[in-house]
Amino acid sequence: MDTYIFLDLDDTIFQTRHKCLTTPDEQLATAAIHPDGSSLSYTTPQQRELLSQLQMLGTVIPVTARNLESFRRVQLVFSDLVVLDFGAAIVLPTGELDPIWDNQIRPRIVEHGSQLEDICQYWKQISDRLALGLRIRVISDFEMPLYVVAKHPDGQIERLQELWQHAHAEFPSEGFFVHHNDNNLSVVPACMSKRSAVEYLLNGPLNEHPRLVIGAGDSLSDAEFLSLCDFSLIPGNSQLMRTLNQQYEVRRSRSRSQ
Ligand SMILES: [Mg+2]
Repeated sequence: MDTYIFLDLDDTIFQTRHKCLTTPDEQLATAAIHPDGSSLSYTTPQQRELLSQLQMLGTVIPVTARNLESFRRVQLVFSDLVVLDFGAAIVLPTGELDPIWDNQIRPRIVEHGSQLEDICQYWKQISDRLALGLRIRVISDFEMPLYVVAKHPDGQIERLQELWQHAHAEFPSEGFFVHHNDNNLSVVPACMSKRSAVEYLLNGPLNEHPRLVIGAGDSLSDAEFLSLCDFSLIPGNSQLMRTLNQQYEVRRSRSRSQ
């Protein structure tokens, strides 16, 4: 049976040093680098073992918010399809964009370009006024403006929460979603999603039956593509798993008090 594994990257199969918790330096391996070539993210032995097992099991397809430039700074080797930019781009093994997906998604994305620029400028004003020191920009790829992202260069994630407290009232009520996990606050056109790209692949190029589909992801925003898969892998210490546990605890305490 053909097996496909849709694999989120950051905080699923590697992460920055401070998130490696108790893993000693000598057990970590560089998995992604900064533009200057220095190490940015690392795999633990468990992550390397998981990736190796997954690659033996079937075709591993990265599904990531990274754009092409930052994906090229990932040092893990993937040889098949790649889903980039929150699903806005599907790159074929030849390095070209999947033309059918590109034709479908590009006209819907480019409509949001000027709104993204407005949101970016507004967030920069808030950051300057409150001296938050955030790096805020519109991420573009394949000649499309895609989404706005705010990060703190030193990982002061409470600064992102301050930004969102001041910015959310002006946030467009329709047409966008917010991805907020750790040092990453993004505003993304709603027409872009990892789910819609995975759905396209499962109904189109990978539409073979029977097949086994596995998904792996750490963020709340990954849940919607994971639910398309037969099975999901969620890192134990992740935003998605913490949320599932919190919801379970709330239900348990409610049922105890009834
Ligand atoms: Mg992730």
